[in-house]
Amino acid sequence: MLKKILSPKTCAACRLCCGFDRTDLWELPVLPAETVAEIHRLGKQPALVPAGTEQTFAAPHLEGEALFVCPMLCETGCTMGADKPFDCRIWPFRMMRDPEGALRITVASYCPGMQKYTDAQLRDFLADGLAAQILAYAEAHPAHVKAWASEYRVIW
Ligand code: SF4
Ligand code: SF4
Repeated sequence: MLKKILSPKTCAACRLCCGFDRTDLWELPVLPAETVAEIHRLGKQPALVPAGTEQTFAAPHLEGEALFVCPMLCETGCTMGADKPFDCRIWPFRMMRDPEGALRITVASYCPGMQKYTDAQLRDFLADGLAAQILAYAEAHPAHVKAWASEYRVIW
C-alpha cells in the first residue's frame, strides 16, 4: 500500500516495527474477525484480548526495555504478507481522534522513512485514494481509531 513512499530497504535498515515495549503496547494492531480467521488459517493460535469490538494480541506484562514481538513476525518479516492487519498495511499512518473528536489521519513522527516527507507531500500521497480508503475503514471499524498521541503528525 505504501510502496511508493516507503521502500523495503528503508525498513530493513530500521526494523523498528513489530516489536512493542511497555510504552507502546497500545500500538499493537487491532484484528478484525477476518484477520483472526487468516491467522488461524496460517496455523497460529496466538493469545488474543478484546480491543473495543475487535481483538488484539495479548502481550505479557513488560518491564524496562523488554519487547513483546508480534507473534506473526518471522525472520524474513510478517508471515501474513498481503493479508496482514489493516493497521499494519497503512502503518506508519494511523486513524486517530484529535482532542476535538474529529477523525484524522496521522503519521508516526519517529518513523525514519517518513521524516523526509513534508506534510504536503504526504497529503498528496493520501489524496490518491488512500485517504478515502482509510476514512471508510475507520467508519466501519471504530476499534481501530486510536486516541490522540502527540508524537504523531496530523496529515489529513
Ligand atoms: S518505523 Fe518506519 S522505517 Fe522503520 S521499519 Fe517501521 S515503517 Fe519502516
Ligand atoms: S501482524 Fe505482521 S506487520 Fe503487523 S505487527 Fe505483526 S508481524 Fe508486524
